[in-house]
Amino acid sequence: MLEAPAVKVFDEPRAKCVKCGAPARIRLNYANAWLCDAHFKEYLKERVKGNLLKYNMVKDGDTLLLAVSGGKDSVALMSLLDEIAPELKVNVVAVHIVLGMGEFSDRSLEAFKAACSRARNIRCVTIDLKEVLGMYMPEVIRRSRRPACSVCGLVKRYLLNALAASMGASAIATGHHMNDLMTYAVKNFLQQRLDNITKLGPVSESEGSAVKRVRPLYDIYEDETRAFVKVYGVNHVDIECPFKTRSTVEEAIKESLNRIEAESPSMLISSARALAKGLSSYPRPASPPNRCRYCGMPASGDECGFCRLTERLTGSPMGPDVVRKVESIAKSITA
Ligand code: AMP
Ligand code: ZN
Ligand code: ZN
Repeated sequence: MLEAPAVKVFDEPRAKCVKCGAPARIRLNYANAWLCDAHFKEYLKERVKGNLLKYNMVKDGDTLLLAVSGGKDSVALMSLLDEIAPELKVNVVAVHIVLGMGEFSDRSLEAFKAACSRARNIRCVTIDLKEVLGMYMPEVIRRSRRPACSVCGLVKRYLLNALAASMGASAIATGHHMNDLMTYAVKNFLQQRLDNITKLGPVSESEGSAVKRVRPLYDIYEDETRAFVKVYGVNHVDIECPFKTRSTVEEAIKESLNRIEAESPSMLISSARALAKGLSSYPRPASPPNRCRYCGMPASGDECGFCRLTERLTGSPMGPDVVRKVESIAKSITA
């Protein structure tokens, strides 16, 4: 941990809140300010709400599907959206995909359920991977013989797209925060995969999916979601996915960005906002030209990645079956 994080929560108040003068224990180094607990939450909420509006993530009457892993970022976002949703007249449905990865998944589901019981304005749904696919993620990974994160990402994207489509959601929101998004942006810049960078902005089309991806925490520091769950005692899973393979390059970039931020407070947030403005001139990834011959989802060849994967796992493409099951889950939410 760096000595000068972007945001630090002290045990006792050390100064006065810049908004109300009350004792404040939250130091925002990047903004050179102190905030009391209540104004910190208000400040985060207004910024997330501002992002939803500024980047046209949602409009009045929309249904937003929020993907919640149970980690600090997505549960923090869920907490904030619970207050924002009625103000913007947006319906939010939170979904957690149960991956069956032992203690990590048990604790993730627990955190999700806790968030659901606190939420007043958000409906919740879970997709149990074994129920829709017949097996949990460890078995999918083992049988696929492909890198864990890429298989898991493919399956989660497919399920989220299928659920969003069958619910009539206008967008899928994830809990990606600025530090991770900027880390991937720098990595892709170094590799000159500029079209990948467009997928890391506040809003992007999700690989030919009709439903856009939105990242309301686009310019929120990881330290801010960490501070939020600490200050408000929000239940979240703080152990890592057992299958996660650390990319040393990503770790090094993330660490360097934190150092740059420590040397030059607010550098990261101004870069992220500048990137969001500049993205329109970046090349866009080509959207898949075809439709999967089994399930009708976007595909680069004649079969989508999910049908290809499940064909390898089980002998037959499971897209259509999974879509049907996800559709019946969607009906249970709207009912
Ligand atoms: P990660 O790649 O684990 O950092 O997750 C990034 C985002 O993907 C999270 O903030 C969630 O929005 C979403 N996500 C990851 N895992 C799940 C899951 N099991 N169920 C629902 N959403 C998830
Ligand atoms: Zn205050
Ligand atoms: Zn398919």
